[in-house]
Amino acid sequence: MALREGALRLNLLLNSRTFYKFNSSVGVRSLSDIVSSKPVTSSAPEIAGDHLIYTQEHFALKESLRKIIDQEINPHVEQWEAEGIFPAHKVFKILGSAGFLGVNKPVEYGGLGLDYSYSVAVAEELGHIRCGGIPMAIGVQTDMTTPALARFGSAELKQEFLLPSIMGDKVACLGVSEVGAGSDVSSIMTKAVRKGDEYVINGGKMWTTNGTQADWICLLVNTSDGPPHRNKSLICVPMNLPGVQIARKIEKLGMWSSDTAEVFFDDVHVPCKNIIGQEGMGFTYQMLQFQEERLWAVANILTMMENIIQETIQYTRQRKIFKRPVLHHQSVHFRLAELQTEVELLRALLHSATALYIKGNDVTKLASMAKLKGGRLAREVGDSCLQFWGGMGFTSDVLVSRFYRDSRLMSIGGGADEVMLGIICKYMDTLPKN
Ligand SMILES: Cc1cc2nc3c(=O)[nH]c(=O)nc-3n(C[C@H](O)[C@H](O)[C@H](O)COP(=O)(O)OP(=O)(O)OC[C@H]3O[C@@H](n4cnc5c(N)ncnc54)[C@H](O)[C@@H]3O)c2cc1C
Repeated sequence: MALREGALRLNLLLNSRTFYKFNSSVGVRSLSDIVSSKPVTSSAPEIAGDHLIYTQEHFALKESLRKIIDQEINPHVEQWEAEGIFPAHKVFKILGSAGFLGVNKPVEYGGLGLDYSYSVAVAEELGHIRCGGIPMAIGVQTDMTTPALARFGSAELKQEFLLPSIMGDKVACLGVSEVGAGSDVSSIMTKAVRKGDEYVINGGKMWTTNGTQADWICLLVNTSDGPPHRNKSLICVPMNLPGVQIARKIEKLGMWSSDTAEVFFDDVHVPCKNIIGQEGMGFTYQMLQFQEERLWAVANILTMMENIIQETIQYTRQRKIFKRPVLHHQSVHFRLAELQTEVELLRALLHSATALYIKGNDVTKLASMAKLKGGRLAREVGDSCLQFWGGMGFTSDVLVSRFYRDSRLMSIGGGADEVMLGIICKYMDTLPKN
């Protein structure tokens, strides 16, 4: 039901957008009239008309996605967390059919052709899923594995890998990190050697989100012995090829419903046409791909932090200590006010970075700052809020303890805090040159 409704709304959105764009004559209804006539609520305090980057269409998109989250995802989160995996094919098909796996991807490959601010809106809304693992898995599909393919891949490659990933028919994963190379991406060892019209791949990838269920991997490999920033390529590799082995599913502190795999590649033969863009440009493409990954991660965790603060307010308002609510102790409501202030500052940074990004600017510095701040703030929100829940916060029954575990990854994954600091220093020209 939610699926059909979501799909219908997004079709309206897409069709009306085209209509809106190319029919500027008098009498044409505005897109917002067509999409929704009711007021749209948002977790952000702004009303749509005054929002820095969101229009009525963004809010309509969020509202549509929220229905899917509430009806098709949240009722199953407890079970999937307990099982240590969620059914990616099933969930992605629901989201893909409704258009949510490619809002900013080209229309000819099943996307909605909207700008990146819509991806940020989607990432924010996915923060309402009551765990970190499932949003992360969705983000890997939409904003970590496919941006380079959409931008630089050949038409044939996009038809084979991008279109089914946007439609939710294929699950994707990203193979950058290795046992010996995480923060220092340039030191990866996995190799692809050209033999005729094929690459033969040998090596291994670590920490591969969606890895046990994925149909294909966007794999960063060395394709020559040249300098580390010029010898890498991104290749689309089907996961069912002979020689691809899922070595193990990794048990983790948090993000339980997201499967994380170690994957080996043993003489895997892949057609040369599976390379994304130009050989030797993989490192550059991956660094560009990281920009969207980082903005996405910040947008997603913003909503989660806001929800944790709100749930903590509700809980501490009704829980009494020393004859008055926990919330009425000044150290508690002042701390929550401070955290909410920091959330708003981060939102302002994210939205201004997004506004610049959709105008074609390089926002590496701002995206890195937002990712750094997002990771650090999430740790503060998780720690302070859990404290205010007392013993209840230490149980598995409440969202705050899951957030405490899940959000710890934000300061490590997709570039650790120190890597972000290094990038910011480069842009500030304060990094000592070797
Ligand atoms: C749950 C999970 C899911 C993941 N999913 C994926 C995925 O789908 N695909 C993928 O490719 N990778 C994935 N990763 C890998 C993730 O991106 C890496 O863990 C991350 O980049 C850090 O690399 P590392 O773990 O090798 O840490 P290391 O590189 O060993 O770094 C260890 C620590 O060193 C510190 N450090 C780093 N640089 C500096 C510096 N310049 N100065 C001082 N200190 C520094 C940081 O504190 C860092 O945490 C995932 C990881 C996890 C845990």
